[in-house]
Amino acid sequence: MPLRGSSLAGKAFWAMVQRVALTAAAIDVGYILLFLWLGSLPLAAVNLVSIAMYLGAYQLIQKRFNAAALGLIWLEVIVHSALGSLLIGWNSGFHYYLLLFIPAIVIANTRGFALPVVVALLVYYLGLQELCDRMAPLAPLPAFSVKIVNWIHICLVFAMSAALAAYYRRTILVAEGRLRKQATLDPLTALNNRSHFEALATHALVRSQRDGTPVTLLLCDVDHFKRVNDEHGHAVGDEVLVEVARTLSRNLREGDVLARWGGEEFLALMPAAGPDAAMATAERIRAAVSQTPLEVGQGASVGVTLSFGVAQVHGAEDLQPATARADKALYQSKHAGRNRVSWG
Ligand code: GH3
Ligand code: MG
Ligand code: MG
Repeated sequence: MPLRGSSLAGKAFWAMVQRVALTAAAIDVGYILLFLWLGSLPLAAVNLVSIAMYLGAYQLIQKRFNAAALGLIWLEVIVHSALGSLLIGWNSGFHYYLLLFIPAIVIANTRGFALPVVVALLVYYLGLQELCDRMAPLAPLPAFSVKIVNWIHICLVFAMSAALAAYYRRTILVAEGRLRKQATLDPLTALNNRSHFEALATHALVRSQRDGTPVTLLLCDVDHFKRVNDEHGHAVGDEVLVEVARTLSRNLREGDVLARWGGEEFLALMPAAGPDAAMATAERIRAAVSQTPLEVGQGASVGVTLSFGVAQVHGAEDLQPATARADKALYQSKHAGRNRVSWG
């Protein structure tokens, strides 16, 4: 069983294995026609059995016998490569399919046994070659027919290797995207988390300081949020936070950096915004939230207010002292009765 708990062991993986099984069965139909045309009845018969095995593997996954399905596919490739090589010779290239297992074994690394399994495959591969060298093909075909079979095998193995690599590449990119999101965004509001805000804001601050444009911080806290939780429940509280986050995002400009700073606290860094513009933005958001109850789903709405602390980053100072001034200003807003904006 490949990598438990990852997308390599998930539904998508088994759906991919099912697609592979169906594709392999369809390819085997083509092979049957080819071998009938070339006059090799034994190989046509082998492909008929292969189709049955691939369809069996498909059904097994349907019934969630995933490990058995994988075992059946393994068995098919191992036996098929041996029968093909022994019937019409090593030059037919049936053995190329065994090579496709190498990346699959290493990536799946089932229970840490990748190395011994790859070595066993190598021994099997070399043993099969040695056997073919020592005995004449059991059902020989003319040399040109064997060449055609070999060419088709080469083309298919190239295509399958590329498809396999593309599948693993997609899996890695999806996992990478998911991890990046987890590392940088707050899962509830999808705003930047604190550490990502610090990275983005520091970058924006350095650029503004180099250009000599003002930078302002806007710290915002939901008033009496504990009451919202107590009166409406934690789930509604969560929805209020999501709505506040949306309102803040809507009212900020493209280059502004916004984060969920703590539980019900949000921090924005506004490049190229002087004190007047920043105070006006905070006032606009405060008024909007206090005048319109927030929609929290199923027709329900909750009225909340916000308190703000706004402060400018002075000269070449970093974020920390300006954040402390914004925090102090926020405290003044709370002290003065909440639902207001203070300058720090
Ligand atoms: P103040 O006006 O002084 O800011 O009062 P407050 O009640 O908003 O502040 P306080 O710091 O006392 O309470 C904040 C509450 O926010 C307490 C905590 O349970 C709640 N909270 C923090 N994070 C979350 C969250 O993710 N979801 C929900 N629903 N509540 C949260
Ligand atoms: Mg609060
Ligand atoms: Mg708070």
